Amino acid sequence: MPTFKVAIVGAGPAGYFAAQALQNAQNEDKTFSIDMIERLPTPWGLVRSGVAPDHPKIKTVSKVFEKIATAGNFRLFGNVELGTDIALADLQAKYDAVILATGSSLGRKLGIPGEELKGYLSAADFVPWYNAHPDYTDVEVPLDTETAVVIGAGNVAMDVARMLALDPSELDPTDTADHAIAALKKSGIRKVYICARRGAEHAAFTSPELRELPKLEHTNVIINKTDIDAAIIAAGDSPEKDVKSNLDAMLAIAEHEKTNHARTMEFLFHHVPTEIKGSGQVQEVVFKTPVGEKTIKCGLVISAIGYEAQPMTDVTYEKGKVLNTEGRVKENIYVVGWAKRGPSGVIGTNKSDAAAVIELLISDLKAPKDFGDINELIGAHKIITQSHWEAINTAEVSRGEPLGKPRVKAADKNELLRLGGL
Ligand code: NAP
Repeated sequence: MPTFKVAIVGAGPAGYFAAQALQNAQNEDKTFSIDMIERLPTPWGLVRSGVAPDHPKIKTVSKVFEKIATAGNFRLFGNVELGTDIALADLQAKYDAVILATGSSLGRKLGIPGEELKGYLSAADFVPWYNAHPDYTDVEVPLDTETAVVIGAGNVAMDVARMLALDPSELDPTDTADHAIAALKKSGIRKVYICARRGAEHAAFTSPELRELPKLEHTNVIINKTDIDAAIIAAGDSPEKDVKSNLDAMLAIAEHEKTNHARTMEFLFHHVPTEIKGSGQVQEVVFKTPVGEKTIKCGLVISAIGYEAQPMTDVTYEKGKVLNTEGRVKENIYVVGWAKRGPSGVIGTNKSDAAAVIELLISDLKAPKDFGDINELIGAHKIITQSHWEAINTAEVSRGEPLGKPRVKAADKNELLRLGGL
């Protein structure tokens, strides 16, 4: 029975779901030997470094990832970077198929004056900072200001605004990076504006995330009822189900009894940012609104307006994505997840997306290649295998136990290698 060798580059949800689709497609005619290559010493992608720490339920999908990783015919090659430790052309030659699952790690730019000022950040830098991503521990996040402005009306903007507006003691039982908890405990921020450029009927939030906001124990959440009344009219008599559900959730917030907490998160609609101003450091943001220009004084601005893929050599990119046709990139190279379709959908979206690409991949397979093993290419490089990763995982979880946390993450690459036993 032929065994086809498949390399998956990127150990995030899209990569694991691609591996799962391959495992599910095995039958008496063919099996797959799967090698997952990840540049970090830790797998799980956005489930580790993107999902908000106060959303632990979303992270339980990692159990599925571990099941895939231990189902047999699967090897993890962590701490191995494509383009540096190994070339795409080498993978292309050695494997029957190569699947890029490298995501979208760059924050989209607003393209307005002032983005170079200290105190302006993209969510693409802030989110991995609070999630202990080893490449983002040095990100400067000025929290010594009373007011922060978050630009964007999607779930990432909401995560960012919530992380800034909640009482940091609420993060104690989470796996937020230690450095971020310490910084947030000293934060002077008491007012967070979340600014949408269009009306509430166009917001990209999802309703479960909106519905949990009134449950925040130490934060007032403010939505102006007149904004939602106007959005309900603008949405018309038969709005789409998701829009209706969002507007219902926002109306519930608008009608929710106001509290007297010291911290406030307020939604502003029809606020188009035109300039960030300050001398050396952010001091205010200028918006165009339906009633004219408006300025909000603040010391921190975080944009959460979408992501683009980080380009790599030998792959063509277009509009922030790998150029592809339904997941086919070029001879025996495929792409899945955000690198394929752009930064949209929830974690589960990657399952059907990957399954469709694997179907195409299988239809393209010919006779299996036999050109040796990837280990011959990597040489003496320190590789995090599945068992090294399991050692890291166990160590982090046991460090968390006495503190009532799901884990205490290591944010330093050398410490991660040490925890892995390397
Ligand atoms: P998103 O859902 O696409 O939202 C991006 C937001 O940025 C939109 O409101 C968009 O407004 C706005 N925007 C774009 N360009 C702008 C500009 N130049 N100025 C002002 N606003 C601008 O993206 P995301 O929030 O990054 O989320 C990515 C994906 O991950 C989404 O599918 C999201 O649902 C998912 N996610 C899910 C969860 C969860 O399930 N809890 C958490 C985080 C992320 P327009 O509509 O006007 O363009």
